Amino acid sequence: MYSDVSLFIDGAWGPAAGGRTIDVVNPATGDKIGTVPHAAISDLDRALEAADKGFKTWRKISAFDRSKIMRKAADLLRERADKIAPLLTMEQGKPLAEAKGEVMAGADVIDWFAEEARRAYGRLIPSRTDGVHQIVIKEPVGPVAAFTPWNFPINQVVRKLSAGLAAGCSIIVKAPEETPASPAELIRVFADAGVPAGTINLVYGVPSEISEYLIPHPVIKKMSFTGSTVVGKQLAAIAGAHMKRVTMELGGHAPAIVFDDADVDAASRILAGSKYRNAGQVCVSPTRILVQEKVYKQFVEGFVGHTKNLKVGDGHDSGTNMGPLANARRITAMETFIGDAQQKGATIQTGGHRIGNKGNFFEPTVMTDVPMEARVMTEEPFGPLAIISPFQGFDDVVTEANRLPYGLASYAFTRSGKTANAIANAVEAGMMTINHLGLALPEVPFGGIKDSGYGSEGGSEAIEAYFNTKFVTQAGL
Ligand code: NAD
Repeated sequence: MYSDVSLFIDGAWGPAAGGRTIDVVNPATGDKIGTVPHAAISDLDRALEAADKGFKTWRKISAFDRSKIMRKAADLLRERADKIAPLLTMEQGKPLAEAKGEVMAGADVIDWFAEEARRAYGRLIPSRTDGVHQIVIKEPVGPVAAFTPWNFPINQVVRKLSAGLAAGCSIIVKAPEETPASPAELIRVFADAGVPAGTINLVYGVPSEISEYLIPHPVIKKMSFTGSTVVGKQLAAIAGAHMKRVTMELGGHAPAIVFDDADVDAASRILAGSKYRNAGQVCVSPTRILVQEKVYKQFVEGFVGHTKNLKVGDGHDSGTNMGPLANARRITAMETFIGDAQQKGATIQTGGHRIGNKGNFFEPTVMTDVPMEARVMTEEPFGPLAIISPFQGFDDVVTEANRLPYGLASYAFTRSGKTANAIANAVEAGMMTINHLGLALPEVPFGGIKDSGYGSEGGSEAIEAYFNTKFVTQAGL
């Protein structure tokens, strides 16, 4: 079912120049399941030439027709969801239902941006002088370089790709080498829907080699990256040195605040569900769960109960709630964070260990009494690890929520409208979801502040990053 993956350059699928490949491994078994080509510089040069040509073609196609092609791609993606989801599970590990959900959500993202393409209005500014027209025009920024990670192999690509295409840009996607087949199938639906050759190009290889070559290249006019803050800062520096437009969607360490007037049982159920989705390898995952003292015990009991009920296993097995971690690096990270916290006095309420020695399975873990000096209180866990801590009052919890340089997602639970307003205003984050989970729909903004990055990958803001604004003022002759 899983076959070797190819590069896609100038409308053609093929191997890398020189024929080098990287192995792809199933994280549930540790077995090799295929290979992915390792692009050489000559492949990148071909992709750049194609993107340059593709931009000239695609930008001339009307927004009306671009939108129609994109909607066809969305329909094809939905039609193929049952074939693509198993590939995603096999290479990334997440349960099949989550994989199918990601594919279907990807189709919704394409539809949203297809609609935005047709509504990317400029504007007319009233002039001070009779007979003068002041016009604001939106023009596509040009060929884009996009770098995406392995946690949502389809979703991370589809947001950049759809926003760029909607605006009239061409794109070179550097998709994740560890999970290459599902993003390749995403690119295939666009090609099959009629996106002209060169408009979309797909490469894999050594991430740093590719980014360091593409970002400074004169053909590339914008870059977009999703991944860790450390790498994001390196890439933003390269982009800055070459004055390239940038969108950065980086790490987070999301505070989830439960006030004592909240529906505590609902909060523990909702947060546990969110915490272990995709085995916690989610940039908006609730990681610092802060519970007001009066309801702390009740919350911990409820959350631990939900955690213990999870069934960990191969994502293909029915009934699996949590699959393996996507790569062995995450196992090492979990063991390091947990060992460090335990040594500094943390209590493990449940979990804490690797499961078996085949595949990257890890127990869903809850820690309490974690001292501030523990590394995991500062570094993003990016795995199935929840930290629950008590707080006394509003000001204390705001101080803790804003303590870190991250500012991506945040969560709050309260029955008070006044507290809800106050906490939404006080927390330094790009997103706040109160009493439910409401993040990451195509039509709502998605992005961070502080070290979590800049720019939005959702809502009407997202397409702006792919436009230049041109002002034209015209007097009658
Ligand atoms: P990493 O920092 O090495 O890589 C993260 C992603 O960036 C990968 O997809 C990788 O291919 C890419 N990357 C790395 N160096 C690059 C470069 N020089 N140029 C272009 N792309 C580059 O870490 P990792 O072990 O793969 O993942 C662990 C950490 O990454 C996590 O702790 C988390 O903070 C972060 N991460 C964040 C997201 C997200 O959705 N924001 C997704 C995946 C990983």
